Amino acid sequence: MRRKLVIGNWKMNGNRAANSALLSGIAAGLTSTGADCAVCAPAPYLAQCQAELAGTSIGWGAQDLSAHAGGAYTGEVAAGMLVDFGCRYVLVGHSERRAYHHESSALVAQKTVAALAAGLTPVLCIGETLEEREAGRTAAVVGEQLGAVLAAIAVADLARLVLAYEPVWAIGTGRTATPQMAQDVHQLLRAQLAGVDPVAAAGVQILYGGSMKPDNAKELMAQADIDGGLIGGAALKAADFLAIISAAA
Ligand code: PEP
Repeated sequence: MRRKLVIGNWKMNGNRAANSALLSGIAAGLTSTGADCAVCAPAPYLAQCQAELAGTSIGWGAQDLSAHAGGAYTGEVAAGMLVDFGCRYVLVGHSERRAYHHESSALVAQKTVAALAAGLTPVLCIGETLEEREAGRTAAVVGEQLGAVLAAIAVADLARLVLAYEPVWAIGTGRTATPQMAQDVHQLLRAQLAGVDPVAAAGVQILYGGSMKPDNAKELMAQADIDGGLIGGAALKAADFLAIISAAA
């Protein structure tokens, strides 16, 4: 049985005071032990997460990392630095990184390798644009994005991946994939993983992301291959984030 996992992606939101209120609100309201949860904060606030979440069951992580282990890469953050601040997770290949920072599948694969090498759990984000879906290219697009990573990592590391299927047209738009649309893609992704290692594939958590809210979370996460959520907007309010975690458990 796969455990459910709910991760909040704060994106470029927050400040010290707001983060503190949000983190203490989540910690105070967290009753369920049936699902794991974590927040992915902007890099400058990872020390704050470490200080305020230590001793709770809430994990934390980053939203991006460098493909390089260190050196003359101004502005970049290495996997080892994330480990230094207690991170467990790191998002890789979020559609906003792919779109606004031109991250290719090859670069996302290198970042995944760097995360694994440092002992982090990469949360590999993949998903198609509206144009790609309407052109009937969803399977080809997500297959290429996942395939690039599968070609770069060791087979033994497959079990250490978390996937997040995030249709680009559903992110921050209030437009959610129907549970069946999401399940269909999750099933495809798991089949692709199974082509590499069927036993590991059965254990990989595949999260759904894209306007998941308290009122649609339960139905989405009831699907056979949806193992949790990657939450943007609704992760910025403790009550909404807690309601989604409860829906997962
Ligand atoms: C995200 O950014 O990963 C996301 C899913 O955002 P939202 O929940 O706001 O659609």
